[in-house]
Formats: sequence, structure tokens, C-alpha cells
Amino acid sequence: MKTKFIFVTGGVLSSLGKGLAAASIGALLKARGLKVTIQKLDPYINVDPGTMNPFQHGEVYVTDDGAETDLDLGHYERYLSQPMSQINNFTSGRIYYSVITKERRGDYLGGTVQVIPHITDEIKDAIKSVVQNDEDVAIIEIGGTVGDIEGLPFLEAIRQLRGELGKDKVLYIHLTLVPFMKAAGELKTKPTQHSVKELRSIGIQADILLCRSEVDLSQDIKSKIALFCNVDPDAVFTARDVNSIYELPMALYEEGLDQKIAIMLKLPAKNPNLKKWKSIAHRIYHPKGKVDIAIVGKYVDLKESYKSLHEALIHAGLENELEVSLRYVNSESISAGNVMRNLQGLQGILVPGGFGSRGVEGKILAIQYARENTVPFFGICLGMQCAVIEFARNVLGFDRANSQEFDPDTEYPVIYLMKEWFDFRNNLFQKRSEQSNKGGTMRLGAYPCVIRPDTLAGQAYETEQVMERHRHRYEFNRKYSMDFEEKGMIFSGLSPDESLVEIVELKEHPWFLGCQFHPEFRSNPMHPHPLFREFVRTAGQGA
Ligand code: GLN
Repeated sequence: MKTKFIFVTGGVLSSLGKGLAAASIGALLKARGLKVTIQKLDPYINVDPGTMNPFQHGEVYVTDDGAETDLDLGHYERYLSQPMSQINNFTSGRIYYSVITKERRGDYLGGTVQVIPHITDEIKDAIKSVVQNDEDVAIIEIGGTVGDIEGLPFLEAIRQLRGELGKDKVLYIHLTLVPFMKAAGELKTKPTQHSVKELRSIGIQADILLCRSEVDLSQDIKSKIALFCNVDPDAVFTARDVNSIYELPMALYEEGLDQKIAIMLKLPAKNPNLKKWKSIAHRIYHPKGKVDIAIVGKYVDLKESYKSLHEALIHAGLENELEVSLRYVNSESISAGNVMRNLQGLQGILVPGGFGSRGVEGKILAIQYARENTVPFFGICLGMQCAVIEFARNVLGFDRANSQEFDPDTEYPVIYLMKEWFDFRNNLFQKRSEQSNKGGTMRLGAYPCVIRPDTLAGQAYETEQVMERHRHRYEFNRKYSMDFEEKGMIFSGLSPDESLVEIVELKEHPWFLGCQFHPEFRSNPMHPHPLFREFVRTAGQGA
């Protein structure tokens, strides 16, 4: 295998931006003409993040092949502009599940199954499996912080890999924190020293230190860290705080990080072409205007839950040269009496996806407000379903119309579980689910959608068929199609066999669109998603 491996670990504390650093390193190496792949190893026991509560874990990111993954994969796709899949994310749970399955099958021939070598071997196989196309570099990010009990098998596996693959093929990058102590008026290197020592105690000597800091580290501080941590003096880099995450690739480039990596790993790297990243960094600071957009959802206290959505809106802003200011509104606190007060003055309203009935009525009120006051509206997945419910109740007069998810006995199940399709879908999804070791009946991953040209969707996409990613169970009930169409709802995106409604919009409205899929997963700063681009553009006209 010619591929060289970069292992990214983190120390001192979490939330230092390890995922973003790994993704930025990938972007820089890619800009140097190298073929790059990237993987996240998560030490938790859940087999995948699909069942995890967004309040705790942030968004569940969905790939084309229907894998429910850690949100860092979203960063990877956004920075590398290349699709991720099942092989780019492994959890301890998935590793153990596989080992235990083999044990039950008798694969280990009665041997004692142990963390070393069985779990570590499984981890090493998972790591190697990310190399699919003879990539020059594979970047492997280890979740968690050095010193966590859960992370030990992963660290042991990457320690072994250096011996196995050869010293010149493996590089360890450790991300730490160098805090500025106001009282002392200086930067403190001790946490970094301890973290590197902790890593060394498990047999890993960091090659490169990436030090998160409020300010640029002076050469003196870098030399001190290098001496105490036993790394090259020119292998200590600042990962300084940036205003926008899209400045990070340029910030790390200016530090010389990618050059040092290329030298240490003897990579056939060209001079980097960073035109696009430079232009993005420029746009961040030179918007021509500002647009205020409300996100009406139930996970508003934890921004990580709407990570991709947030980023897609930022991308659309960059494209339209607008600063997008987001106001998160808790849908549970919206009532008929205060909806106006909550949303007045905002130029766009977005209702994102979600599960469960909490806050749904508030979302419906927000949508009614957007529809009646011609405020640009974008509904995603549950957001589209709520738009359909709102239209059924308030325009078609379908009293208490609902989704079967929230009212299984509703007289007007405008959103429902497709019975006649259920078995077919079950089979189809089961096939995909089996590949991901999971038995759900969710519609997951990329599906085709045919676009009607003379519509908002048609104008945005400028193409007849698109692939978009799904993560839901319920669908629009085609039984009611005619009622909706008669009153001005347009079905501008359908599955190729026309059985599933993928996009709805309204005739008499400047921009009112709901989609059953999650377009936010396919947006990146280089290629903002067309629907987000048009939503933000139209909202901007009202600013
Ligand atoms: N709860 C809805 C469904 O399962 C919508 C899901 C979502 O918004 N991702 O169909």
C-alpha cells in the first residue's frame, strides 16, 4: 500500500476543533494535487450515531449510501468536496459488534477473544478499509481526548500501525490547547506538555503539535513546547481562533503546516492551488448586505444539532455576498398570540427536519405566518411535512389534518406511512440497512428526484434530475394531490415513478418551498446548494 497515514488525536479538552483541523489538513493536501481520504473513529459504544439524541450529540449526518454518521463527516465533505460513506466513520460499538458477531459464528475457533489483538486488529482493518483508490494520504481522526478510557483501543491500534506500515508512512498530529492566562499575562504550555506525555505513556510520540490558541504562538513559545514535548522546533504550529471556520485552511497554510506534513511524509506534493479558499476568506469579510433568517425548530439551544443547515445557509450567503444572520427560534414557545412578535422583521423563515410531536404546532404557526405574509419560506423534511399540514388545515379546510406520526387516527392523514409501499420499501431499506448493520425502516441516503422545469425548484437546479439525501419515515399522501393542486400547491419534485412527492411549492408566493430530503447535506462553500442559494437570495431582496 502506497498510502500514507496521518493520525489526528486531541488532548487537554474536547471541542478544540479536531474535526475541522483534520478536514482543513485534507483540503490543503488536496489543493497540493494529492489524492486524499479521511475517516473518523468514534470511541462511543453506539453502533452508529443514528439513534443518538441530537440534544446530546449534535446532528446525525447522512451520506449518499445512507450511513448515519458523526457530524464531522459533514465537515469532511464540505472541505474536501468529495462524498463520504459508511467506511469513513467507525464507532467502538461497530467494531465490537463485528468482533462479537465473529465470535458467535465461531470464527475465532474457541480462542479467548481480547481487546488486544482482536479489537485492535478489527480497528486496524477498519482504518485500512478507508483506502479504496490508492490514495496518497488517509487522514484518520480519533474522537475524544487522550486519557479517555474509551479511546485506548484506538490509540493502541494506531500505535501498532506505525510498526506495521513503516515509520515513513505514519504521522501523528496532536491537537492541544495553549491557554492565555490573563492573571499571569502569558500563554501556558503545561497542559500541552501533559497531554503529549499522556500520549507518550501509551507509546505514541507526536510528530506535529497543533496548538489551539487565542493568539499566535511566538517562536520562543514554540521552541519551548518543542523542547519539552520532544518534537522538531518547526513542527509546532498555532491553530489560532478564526472568525469563520472557512478561514482555517488558509490560517494553517500560512503557518506552514501542510508543507511540514508533505516534507515529513515525503509526499509528492505540488505547490498548493488555494485560489478558491482565498476567495472564500475574502468574501467572509466583504459582504454587500445582511439578511436575517429565522430557524424555527426544537433543538435551538444546541447549534450543533443543525450544523449542516447552519453551514448551508452560510455558503448561500457567501455566494450571494450577504452576511447571513441566523436567529434560532424555539418552536415550542410559539403560540398564535406571539408568532408575529417572534418572527416580525425577519426576511426568511426556515423550518428544519425533526422527529416527534414536540414543537410541531409552533412550526405550523410559523409557516402560516410565512405563507400569509409572503415571507420567503424553506421547509426541510419535517419542515415540508408541516407546510403540507398547514396548507391542508388553513387553505383546504381539512380540520385537524395531520401526519400519522403525530396523530395516527387523524381524519386527514396528509402525511402518512405508505402502506402499499411499505413492504417494498422495507426490502429496499433492509438491504441498505444490513450493509450498515442496522435494522431500521427509515428511508435513508440518496434517491433520485425529477424536477419540474417551470418552477422555483427548476429555476434553482437548472437540471431535470437530482440526487438528494433522505432520512425520514413518512411521506406526502398522494390521495390528496388534486386537492392541493387545485388550491395552488405545486409538486415540483417527484420520484421518477411519481409515487413520492419530493418538493412542494406555492404559486402565489415569492418563495415558498418544502422538500422531503435534506439538501443541507450536499452544500459546501465551493458549491452552495441551489435551493439554499435561491432561498437566501430571495430573502436578501427583502432586506
Ligand atoms: N419525522 C419525520 C419523518 O420521519 C421527518 C423526519 C425528518 O425531518 N428528518 O418522516
